[in-house]
Amino acid sequence: VKRVCSVRGCEEEAVKSISVEKIRESGINLELEAFGRRAWLCKKHYKEYKKARRKLDRLERMRWMTR
Ligand SMILES: [Zn+2]
Repeated sequence: VKRVCSVRGCEEEAVKSISVEKIRESGINLELEAFGRRAWLCKKHYKEYKKARRKLDRLERMRWMTR
């Protein structure tokens, strides 16, 4: 069975499964159609997720440094 990306309106084939919680934590603004604990992301949306995640890590490091 072919997995399809969990982002609403996206019909791409999914390449990665990420926990919904992690996606929310990343702050990325994606409307997910996942009802379980894991969402499936296509190549493009996985890239976006990784980018958001990297940005978040940078912000957290900055917060830590100024404390
Ligand atoms: Zn997608």
